[in-house]
Formats: sequence, C-alpha cells, structure tokens
Amino acid sequence: MHTVLITGANRGLGLEFVRQYAEKGWQVLACCRSPQSAEALKALANSHSNIELLPLDVTDEGQIQALAAQLQGRAIDHLLLNAGVLGEQCADLGSMTQAEWLKVLNINTVAPALLIQALRDNVAASELKTIAALSTRVASIDDNGSGGMYSYRASKAALNQILVSAARNLAEQGVKTVALHPGWVQTDMGGSNATFTPQESVAGMISVISNLGEDESGSFRVFDGSTIPW
Ligand code: NDP
Repeated sequence: MHTVLITGANRGLGLEFVRQYAEKGWQVLACCRSPQSAEALKALANSHSNIELLPLDVTDEGQIQALAAQLQGRAIDHLLLNAGVLGEQCADLGSMTQAEWLKVLNINTVAPALLIQALRDNVAASELKTIAALSTRVASIDDNGSGGMYSYRASKAALNQILVSAARNLAEQGVKTVALHPGWVQTDMGGSNATFTPQESVAGMISVISNLGEDESGSFRVFDGSTIPW
C-alpha cells in the first residue's frame, strides 16, 4: 500500500486530496493545525480506516521535528506540501508590514523547505519517491504582467526555487519534485467564482504527480499537465 502525507488537510484542496487518495486505497497521513476541530476531515476519517490525523502547524519547527520522529522508518510515497496563505494584508504597496511578510514567508516558503528536510529520508525510502508542493501561476516571473500580490508571488517563487534545488540534491536518491499550479479553484482561498472545482483540480494534480518522469523532476506544472515558464 502506498502512503501520502498532506499538509493543510482540513479544508480546501488539502481535504480533497485526502478524499481522493483515501478512495484509491492509499494510507493517508492527514496533517492539520487542529485535528480535534477539523469536522469535515474527522467525518472522512470515520468512514475511511486508511486516514490518520496528525497535528501540524507548519510554522512550528518543534512540531515538524516531532512529526519526523513519529514517522521515522515509515515510507512516504507522495509528500504533498499543500498548506498556504494568500497574504491579503501584504499584497500591495502601501499595506505591507514586516510582520505580515514574515508570516507569509514562514508558511509558504520556510515551512515547505523544513518539511522536505525533515521527511526526505521517508520519501527516499518509498517506492514512488515524489515531493509535490502547491505553488501558483502568479509565482511565474514571466507571467507577472499586473504586479501586486507582493508577498504571495514572492513566497511561492521562492518555493519554486526550493523545489528545483531539492530536485537536484535528491536526484541521487531517486527523489523527484514538482511545483504545481492547481488552477483557480473554488475553495476559501479561490472563492466561489473560481473556474475549477476541487475535485477536477485535485484529480488532475494527482495524475501529474503520479506520472512525473525522472527527467521532469524540478518542473512547474499546471493541474492539466502543461508546463509554466519560470
Ligand atoms: P484554503 O485557504 O482553502 O486552505 C488553506 C489550507 O492551508 C488550510 O487547510 C489551512 O489550515 C492551511 N494552513 C494555513 N496556514 C497553516 C499553518 N500555519 N499550518 C498548517 N496549515 C496551515 O486554500 P486552498 O485549499 O485553495 O489552497 C491550497 C494551496 O493551493 C495553497 O498553498 C495555495 O496557495 C495554493 N493555490 C490555491 C489556488 C486556488 O485557486 N484555490 C490557486 C493557486 C494556488 P487552517 O484551516 O488551519 O487555516
């Protein structure tokens, strides 16, 4: 049986990843800040014995280390770094503050780097050896025609660099990485007017992750499989 670990598993795309992997029969390590109050996730876990709930605030380094210790020796086939924030308070010239910048960078950039560091041996010990992180098209410098979204764009562009470095550094162990753009999706972050449902976006992303070739490690992909320029 394959295993997936998902951060931010309590709502939005994370919750849909949990649902789809659980229905495929995978062992699902569903991480979120407060498992005890994650009602939708708990309901899913009640009907699927292959879902384990684990506490993880991705900005808490102690919790990352505790998670790694708890999972020592367990293989993780797909490591899904999904948790993220939009940083609306730090989107425009005029509203930015240091505190908000650091909060966004901590969640969107530093946490995925520390999680890759903490769990890389688990991924390397698995059969499928793949790390995927939720990036966004607006992280593409080529795509930045409108400006704004300062902390979100920058934090996810830095995340993309982390994924490329990890692709290079972990290639010897057979570990692959991919940065994913999920499309504009109907979640709390995307809003109800967004183009895609979580179901179609997540189904597409699972297909991209599952079919990632070794020569495609360190690439930046849309949920439909197309590539985004950096
Ligand atoms: P949501 O806002 O719906 O969900 C965000 C998730 O991240 C929640 O589970 C939230 O948990 C979690 N999270 C935030 N901060 C932390 C933290 N410190 N520790 C642990 N978990 C945390 O967003 P989406 O589901 O839409 O987005 C998921 C990912 O996809 C994000 O990385 C986002 O940037 C990316 N993305 C989304 C797009 C969209 O259109 N929806 C477009 C492009 C990219 P909690 O409930 O505890 O806050």
